[in-house]
Amino acid sequence: MYQNLIAGEWLDGASAAANHNPSDISDVIGEYAQASAEQTAAAIDAASGAFDAWSKSGIQTRADALDGIGNEILARKDELGDMLAREEGKTLPEAVGEVARAGQIFKFFGGEALRIRGESIASVRPGVEVEVTRQPLGVIGIITPWNFPIAIPAWKIAPALAYGNCVVFKPASLVPGSAWNLADIISRAGLPEGVFNLVMGSGGLVGDAILNDSRIDGVSFTGSVTTGARVSAICAARGAKFQLEMGGKNPLVILDDAPLETAVDCAISGAFFSTGQRCTASSRLIVAEAIHDRFVDAVVAGIKELKVDDARKAGTQIGPVVDQGQLDQDLDYIKTGQDEGATLAWGGERLSRDTEGYYISPALFTNTRNNMRINREEIFGPVASVIKVKDYDEAVAVANDTEFGLSAGICTTSLKAASAFKRDAKAGMVMVNLPTAGVDYHVPFGGTKGSSYGSREQGSYAAEFYTIVKTAYTLPE
Ligand code: NAP
Repeated sequence: MYQNLIAGEWLDGASAAANHNPSDISDVIGEYAQASAEQTAAAIDAASGAFDAWSKSGIQTRADALDGIGNEILARKDELGDMLAREEGKTLPEAVGEVARAGQIFKFFGGEALRIRGESIASVRPGVEVEVTRQPLGVIGIITPWNFPIAIPAWKIAPALAYGNCVVFKPASLVPGSAWNLADIISRAGLPEGVFNLVMGSGGLVGDAILNDSRIDGVSFTGSVTTGARVSAICAARGAKFQLEMGGKNPLVILDDAPLETAVDCAISGAFFSTGQRCTASSRLIVAEAIHDRFVDAVVAGIKELKVDDARKAGTQIGPVVDQGQLDQDLDYIKTGQDEGATLAWGGERLSRDTEGYYISPALFTNTRNNMRINREEIFGPVASVIKVKDYDEAVAVANDTEFGLSAGICTTSLKAASAFKRDAKAGMVMVNLPTAGVDYHVPFGGTKGSSYGSREQGSYAAEFYTIVKTAYTLPE
C-alpha cells in the first residue's frame, strides 16, 4: 500500500485504488491510498500551520532542498521512468526524458530561490523610500493531469516551494505511482513537516475539498477545459488566485516552400509521439496545395512504419493510450470523422499485442474542413487531420479559427513567412520548423483563449503566480 503524506506522516487513506498498466491490463502496479475529505482538510491544516516558518526560511535552505530533490530525480531517472512508462503508457525513452526534465526543473528552481528580486522606486515625496518586494502567496493547491505524471507536478511544486509557499498536491488518479515516487523524494529533502503534502484520491472528492477550502490561497491546475471551468468558478467566487492550463487543438502549417523532410518529421512527432496525448499535440495539419499530396504520401508512409506496442518494450515508438475511456473516445472520434465525410487515410484501428492493452494505430484524416468536429474538439489521442489551404493568408486564418490557443507551428524556408507567423498566430507558443510539442523547461509555458488562464508557468515567469507583490514606503527618521 502506497500511503499519503500528511503533516510529515505517511498515512493510509479511507480506501485504496489499484494502479493499472495500460500496456498490460493484467499488471497491477500497486494499491494507492485514497484520502477522505477530512484527511484532505488535515493536509491543508498542516500546510497552513507550516507556512509562517517556511515563508521566512532562508533562501539557501530552499535552494539546497530543491537542488537535492533534482539531483535524486536525475540519478534515478531510469527507474522512475520505468514506473512512468508502466503506468501512463508513453514509451520508455519518452518517460525517462520526462523524468530528467522534472529533475532539471527542480534544479532550475533551486537557483531561482536565490534570484528572488525586488525593486527600489523613487518616491514623489522627497525623503520617502519605496521598495517593491515579492512575498510568498501562501498555501497552494496543486491539481495535475495524467499525461505528464512527473513533469507537470514538478513545474508547479518546485516554484511553489522555491518562493516560500506550502503545498497540497493532488495528482491524477490514473498515475499515482510517479506522484508517490516524487513525494517520497521530497519527503527526504529536509523540508519541515507540513510544507509539502500528498493527497491521492478522486477529483470529485479530494480535488473539490482543495478548491473549496478557504485556507488554500492559490490553485495551480492543469487538465481539461471542463474541470478548469469548475476550478475557475469556485476560486473566483471565494477570491483565491488560480491559474489554468487546459486543452489545445494546435495547428501546424506547412507552406509550399517547406523542407519536406522537416515538415513530415514535425507532423509525425508532434501529432503521434506520446500517443498524441499532449496538450501541445499537432492535431491540425494545415497544408498548402502545392505540397499537399507529397506531404500526405510521406506522412502516411511514415506512420505505417511506426511500431505500436508495450510502452517498455525496446523499439516501441507509440505506446498504448492511457485507459479504456480514452480508447473509446479516440475510436468514437474516428467514427465521427468518417461520418462527417473525412477520408481516413490510415490507422484508427484497435490493435492486439502480446498482452491485452489499449492499443490503437495512429490515424490520419485527409479531405477535412476546419469546421468538422474532429478539427474543433480536442481528441487527445494519436489522431491528426489534414486541412488543405491555398496560401499563407488562408493558412493563418484556419490556424487561428479555433477556441484554443496553446501552441502553433509553421514549416517554411521563408524568413518573411516565419516572422509573420510568429506575429499572427494567436497562440501562447509559436514554433518555426519545429513540432508544436516539445518545449524548454526554463522559459514561460502557456496559451491564449480557451487553453489557459492566468499567469504563465515555468521559468522566472512562475514568480507571477507563486508570489504577491508588496509595496513598502519608509521615511527614515
Ligand atoms: P481532468 O479530467 O480535467 O483532470 C485533471 C485533474 O483534475 C485530475 O487530477 C483530476 O482528478 C482533477 N479533477 C477532476 N474533477 C475534479 C473536480 N471536480 N474538482 C477538482 N479536481 C478535479 O484532465 P485529464 O484527463 O487528467 O487531463 C487531460 C487534459 O489535460 C487534456 O485536456 C489536456 O489538453 C490537458 N492538459 C493541458 C496541459 C497544458 O499545459 N495546457 C498539459 C497537459 C494536459 P482525477 O484524476 O481524480 O479525476
